[in-house]
Amino acid sequence: MHEMSLMESVVEIACETAEKAGAAKVKVIRLDVGVLSHVDPDALLFCYEAIRRGSLAEEAELRINRVAGEGWCLDCGKTVPLAERFGACPECGQYHVQMTAGDELKIRDLEVI
Ligand SMILES: [Zn+2]
Repeated sequence: MHEMSLMESVVEIACETAEKAGAAKVKVIRLDVGVLSHVDPDALLFCYEAIRRGSLAEEAELRINRVAGEGWCLDCGKTVPLAERFGACPECGQYHVQMTAGDELKIRDLEVI
């Protein structure tokens, strides 16, 4: 389950950031998770419960923000919504769409106290 290693890095980064800021603990972790990424938000939450124990993020709330899929159509020269990886352009039906959003998993921001 790669969600486990993803959450390990997230919690590690959150705790390091809190430590550097001289904070006592992490209060909120906000994550951007693209709908086209191969990451299951429920699995993230499940792993987070296990990983945060004993860390500065032990009481932190994990908020997951789902990022919609979006791509750039080379044929239309437009940004279009993308329902699937390597999906067709909804405007022209061609498969020349480069994914520009929806594939991310990143920390949007943190609150520390
Ligand atoms: Zn197009």
